[in-house]
Amino acid sequence: MDLGKALGSFLRRIEDLVYPRGINCLVCGDRRRTDPATCVCPGCLKKLEDERVPAAACPRCLSYASRKGCAFCAAGGMKDVRRAFAPLYYLPASRALVISLKFGGTDEALPLLGEWMEVSLAERDFDCILPVPLHPRRRRERGVNQAALLASEVSRRTGIPLREDLLVRKKYTRPQTAVGRRKRKSNVLDAFAVPSGPDVSGMKILLCDDVRTTGNTAQACARALKKAGAADVCLLTACAVR
Ligand SMILES: [Zn+2]
Ligand SMILES: [Zn+2]
Repeated sequence: MDLGKALGSFLRRIEDLVYPRGINCLVCGDRRRTDPATCVCPGCLKKLEDERVPAAACPRCLSYASRKGCAFCAAGGMKDVRRAFAPLYYLPASRALVISLKFGGTDEALPLLGEWMEVSLAERDFDCILPVPLHPRRRRERGVNQAALLASEVSRRTGIPLREDLLVRKKYTRPQTAVGRRKRKSNVLDAFAVPSGPDVSGMKILLCDDVRTTGNTAQACARALKKAGAADVCLLTACAVR
């Protein structure tokens, strides 16, 4: 019998006893074998590091910017969003973390994403952090609003007050990922409104979402807030599409 193999399976059994739950890497699913306080294995942490938004990205939207400039912003971008912040591009490892938060029934990715989002936030002078709302029906279907989880984590870390009452989603829209690229804009246009009651006039607002995809959702939110009198809207996401 292979002594190494036997020893390996013995150690694994000990590990099972010590950490019976929640020690699989959220990205690759392998056992973490290291610090159970972190949600990814060292290999996947390295992959995440490689998915970081580089300093050379477009400062306004974080898209990859060539020497000619940013194609996303040149095509219209997010007109009412002054500046975007995100630690990661939306690539396989970061996608796995976001999906675990959205559909995985676990918020284990929250401390890591929250910490990285906090570090990416180069400005702190905001009156509030506001998660992109889900339609109440979608919230019931999904059980969680991942944007609200992230916003509350960042609020806790930065002290920027969390406000979830400044924006409502009026339209039950199909998930943006299920809609063709062209239809995405009309899908979310006018989907959001500032409810009667809270006064956003003059406010500097940090919108928060899990992923900035086409930017149409953030733009629709920002436009509604600006129309209601908000002075400034920026966007913080865990990931941005490159
Ligand atoms: Zn892993
Ligand atoms: Zn740009």
